Amino acid sequence: MISTSAVDAYIEKNSRRFVDELKELCSFPSISNHGKDAVEPARDWIADRLSRFTDRVETLDAGGMPALYAEVPGGGRRKLLLYQHYDVQPVDPIDLWDSPPFEPVEKDGRIIARGVADDKADVMARIHALETLKSLGDVPVTLRFLVEGEEEIGSKTFEKIAHDHAGKLAADGCLWESGASFDDAGRPTIQFGCRGLLYVQLRVKMLDFDQHSGFASIYPSAAMYMIGALASLRDQEMNIRIDGFYEKVIKPTEADRRMMAKIDPEVDKRRKLIGFDRLVRDPRPEQVIEQMLFTPTCNVAGVTTGYQGPGSKTVLPAEATAKLDFRLIPNQDPADVLSQLRKHLDSNGFEKVEILWSDGEKPARSDPDSAVGKTMIDCVRELHGEPILWPFMPATGPMHPVVADLGIPTVLPVGVGRPDNRIHAPNENIRAADYVNAVRLMCRVWERFGAG
Ligand SMILES: [Zn+2]
Repeated sequence: MISTSAVDAYIEKNSRRFVDELKELCSFPSISNHGKDAVEPARDWIADRLSRFTDRVETLDAGGMPALYAEVPGGGRRKLLLYQHYDVQPVDPIDLWDSPPFEPVEKDGRIIARGVADDKADVMARIHALETLKSLGDVPVTLRFLVEGEEEIGSKTFEKIAHDHAGKLAADGCLWESGASFDDAGRPTIQFGCRGLLYVQLRVKMLDFDQHSGFASIYPSAAMYMIGALASLRDQEMNIRIDGFYEKVIKPTEADRRMMAKIDPEVDKRRKLIGFDRLVRDPRPEQVIEQMLFTPTCNVAGVTTGYQGPGSKTVLPAEATAKLDFRLIPNQDPADVLSQLRKHLDSNGFEKVEILWSDGEKPARSDPDSAVGKTMIDCVRELHGEPILWPFMPATGPMHPVVADLGIPTVLPVGVGRPDNRIHAPNENIRAADYVNAVRLMCRVWERFGAG
């Protein structure tokens, strides 16, 4: 095993170049929403970097934005899968950026660029960790890099890629892209899964065109019909009235409850920031995190109908549309919820509501007591202090095929995440010091995991 001090010294000596190379990767506008041509140059650049360490680099293409795969054979018997993504979110609203999003700048110890936090710091930190260990000796574990190209547009072909290449991706553990990383008080945070998602667009069309509202006494209203349909789905306290919706929802275990008891719900801080006067269901402070994670949701993301411009327009709208998202809890399946939603609409007199399209990702959770989970916890404790553990994160990621179908224990490590990273928003940024620490943590985890 290479000594920790040699590793840290190498990283320290090269930290300036590491940051510069991260900035170079961030200069590629790899917005997956803009199509294949937009993402290819970043992928080629990463492929070139990885091919300095292995000749086993290839693209995995299932008809969407291709993923990049690289295997780096190492000593030891264990294999580790590394999941990252090289695509980024669009930059709008561009006016709110203080500097051009793809011309990375450094200011007050921060690096500012689209994608620097989500997720190019993970991509690059793992390549720099590889460089570090290779320069000092060898990597003690076989590494399997999987760098996805369409995470920001819903990972549409990721499940197929995972299934088609199950053999190549097989591993004893998986390090996902980093999660929350550090909470508001600077405590390190490790997560072990994610919630699922079902997104649907609904439409009601009752008339061929809008009518003078004087005729509202005889023609039906698409707006009222849609509002009735939406109101039938749930009440104000997030009790969802769709038959069968809760059937597969798991309850927290005692171990989950012990983990969640250590997470600060930060209710007052949230209240100041967000301005709510009460929380849904009025949870006691010690119940907030459990409710946040283990309550599946039905959320109206948007409703469009009729006139909303200045002054008045007396119109009876012909049509109404709505977008809904459901955050799903292990072991709910978005396909089940979609058919339950259709049945609910049909059996409650809302059969005229069409489901125009839908998209979904399954929830996933992994065991914190797995070898990779324990290794991460130990290494984070040494480097950053006692970590806060989340059974899974409130958000969604394409983790299910890896955790459930390939059966690989998975952890979201501490990386560069901070509450003020502004991911998906203007002025996305990370702290340069966090980046260097992410490289250090990676080296430690690989060394420790490889020794097992
Ligand atoms: Zn991401």
